[in-house]
Amino acid sequence: MVAGLFKAEGIVLKGRDYREADQLLTILTPAYGRIDAIVKGVRKPHSKLRSGTQQLCRSRFLFYAGKNLVTVTQCEVQSIFAALRQDLTLLAYAYYLLEIADAIALPGQAAAEIYYLLNHGLELLATTDPELVGRAYEARTLKILGLEPRLDFCAACQGPLANASRVAFAPAAGGALCHNCQGQHGTEYYLLPGSIKIWQRLNRLNWRHLRRLQISPVLGRQLREIMPAFLEYYLDRRIRSRLFINEMKLEVYNIDRTGKD
Ligand SMILES: [Zn+2]
Repeated sequence: MVAGLFKAEGIVLKGRDYREADQLLTILTPAYGRIDAIVKGVRKPHSKLRSGTQQLCRSRFLFYAGKNLVTVTQCEVQSIFAALRQDLTLLAYAYYLLEIADAIALPGQAAAEIYYLLNHGLELLATTDPELVGRAYEARTLKILGLEPRLDFCAACQGPLANASRVAFAPAAGGALCHNCQGQHGTEYYLLPGSIKIWQRLNRLNWRHLRRLQISPVLGRQLREIMPAFLEYYLDRRIRSRLFINEMKLEVYNIDRTGKD
């Protein structure tokens, strides 16, 4: 990154309080990747920088890159993704997308694909089933990272997959496994053929048609477990907001059950 002033549009991935009245933000930009930047005095009551520097804001920033740190000197908010802030479930999914982007973008390396994927994902969340957006986002993220799983042949020996009612799937092997290769590649999951088909569709699907994709509850549950697990295996970290989403789901489930009794 060059020293001095530079402009960039960005999405605020996260922020934390810093010193007395400042914040330290992590901002994703298309051209410069992930930027850690200080916003001075932003926690003072009348700071002009406040509105555009909150987590989950897309803003136009004017940065100043000094010797050791980058500062936000101006910002103009483009979207606060208002619809997502009014619904706890949508907000949880929004944080999930932000957290994945934060995990895969690197400082100082162009991240246009990740940036536009994130922006598109956040926009879709306002109008589309968040589960679908989550799965589509995971599939696209894996694609960007060059980690699309092998689902049509055995990931270990390239042989054909048996026509079985469930197919073994091992993150360490990079995809599905045939009968001969099972049990040799660490943790295994089992995918129903229907889940494999949905995953393949998610890899190819134009997001404009995402809303039309139907996933049965059984396949939905399976993909909700296995797709993030695959991503987490390669990121080598847990995605914390996923745990929160799962906890919320459990709560809704319990409320539904009590309602029926
Ligand atoms: Zn095999």
